[in-house]
Amino acid sequence: MATAEIITVGTELLLGQLVDTNTAAIAAALAEAGVDVYRQTSVGDNESRIAAAVGEALSRADAVICAGGLGPTVDDMTREAVAAAAHLPLQLDEPTLADLRAFFAGVNRPMTENNARQAMFPQGADILPNPNGTAPGFALDVGAKCVISLPGPPREMTPMLHDHVMPRLKRRFGLDSVIVTRVLRTVGMPESELDSRISDLFRASINPSIAVLAHLGQVDVKLTAKARSLEEALALINDLEPQVRTRIGDFIFSGDGQTLPQALGAAMRTRGWTIASAESITGGMIGNLLTSAAGSSQYYAGGTIAYSDEAKTSTLNVAPELIERHGAVSEEVAIAMAIGARELFHTTLGISTTGIAGPGGARRDKPLGLTYIALAKPGSDVHVERFHFSGEREAVQRRAALSALMLIWRAARPNVRND
Ligand code: AMP
Ligand code: MG
Repeated sequence: MATAEIITVGTELLLGQLVDTNTAAIAAALAEAGVDVYRQTSVGDNESRIAAAVGEALSRADAVICAGGLGPTVDDMTREAVAAAAHLPLQLDEPTLADLRAFFAGVNRPMTENNARQAMFPQGADILPNPNGTAPGFALDVGAKCVISLPGPPREMTPMLHDHVMPRLKRRFGLDSVIVTRVLRTVGMPESELDSRISDLFRASINPSIAVLAHLGQVDVKLTAKARSLEEALALINDLEPQVRTRIGDFIFSGDGQTLPQALGAAMRTRGWTIASAESITGGMIGNLLTSAAGSSQYYAGGTIAYSDEAKTSTLNVAPELIERHGAVSEEVAIAMAIGARELFHTTLGISTTGIAGPGGARRDKPLGLTYIALAKPGSDVHVERFHFSGEREAVQRRAALSALMLIWRAARPNVRND
């Protein structure tokens, strides 16, 4: 089992001026190959500190992957630092220099002297070609260990990582494990309840491992298996998945990367249903989410953002007395809006939202976050639910929109009693 450390180089990273996406990309590739990463470091453009970081990482890990600081400018000094850490001199690589000269001739620009630095490598290093930039990377063996250095720009770094670094590490360290992850996405069950339903599996299963990750209004259950082959890893996951589904299957909308709008769309298409929306608190988010799925025109007719009382009555035919008697944020108005949307657009279903997003507008009997969501179905059948969302205005709106999608999905999902 090989271990690795990642070192990203750049003062911008330390100043918070640049978000370090390279570490995440490298870590993900290493994890997928079964390499354990125990530490990640970021260091500024300072030769001795980079050299110290590389030296320390080499004392702990089998492989050290560096990114950044390979450019032509004076603040790019990773090559010098790696050479110093390995106690090796830098050497000019003539073919790389010739490539650089050809590149500059090709773009009709004079090659300034600093560019030649990009043709210098620690003695004995293997050069890793960079098809998307001028600075090649390099891989250097240091005893039984190795240091790999890649350029900083992600569009240069990422292809080199996948095309050169990972195959090299696999060969060098005889990596033959495969990691497969399947994410079961759920909606409609709070994280704590979901967790308690599967906690025994969670404790009993080490491979595949189970992780529960909550996002806004959505909880993912992640199954990760590690094995010698893809088939073996998939078999491990396929054994565990049905056990998870027995516990929480009603809430799982996707196990193959589909988003909620996509899963919902597939279910709507299968049933041949159509839908229209009447949005107050969500201000168009439902329409936005529904249309994020390709092919949504097959089932989403359209919607209206009926924000004012006047808009609710004039566009959706909500009786003014209903608003007067119960208030715009009420079960009765939500129901009337959903029916109105369905009639306005001549669809199978109508979905509506009305609520208090805040920060103002709350009353004792109508607290912040109070939201009614109604789903009108054929006949005079309307399903309505009362929610109490927490958080800032945007979070409340987003939770409301996702809950609306959840209600639609629940009604349309396959093989389920219509509740
Ligand atoms: P460097 O090779 O360190 O001079 O980096 C050149 C450019 O690559 C930087 O200006 C950033 O735009 C990008 N870059 C460098 N390091 C990172 C990183 N860790 N994550 C994302 N982008 C980076
Ligand atoms: Mg730099």
